Amino acid sequence: MFIINYPCYECGEILKVAYIENNDGEDWFESRGGSHISASDFTATEIKIAGYYNVIINSSYSNKVKSRYNACCCKHCKAFIGNYYIFTDIFVPAMSGTFDYIEVNLENLPPELEHFENDLKNEYKKLLTESTN
Ligand SMILES: [Zn+2]
Repeated sequence: MFIINYPCYECGEILKVAYIENNDGEDWFESRGGSHISASDFTATEIKIAGYYNVIINSSYSNKVKSRYNACCCKHCKAFIGNYYIFTDIFVPAMSGTFDYIEVNLENLPPELEHFENDLKNEYKKLLTESTN
């Protein structure tokens, strides 16, 4: 999971964006419907892990798709990041050094997040079972 410091497009303060990329085709990922996952498709535990890094994920109304979904929000204003923009406008520039980010290895959580490990594994197992049935 990447935690990216993105300057909010409304107020300019740092808006923390969480995003998951699968770059090595692991099993637990096959059930996720794509190689990149934004907050709208995070599991409950992934949302908690993002929260540990001060990412605010709230149900947000998107004018683009005319419905609500979980999105990363600015803690300083009401702005949120729509799924449509994350890959091109935030993730790719972050990877090339435009925005600061940290990477959290979900398969080998740092000690401070180890208490999430079982929940996370169970969620992935469940997703995998559901996708293969
Ligand atoms: Zn803002």
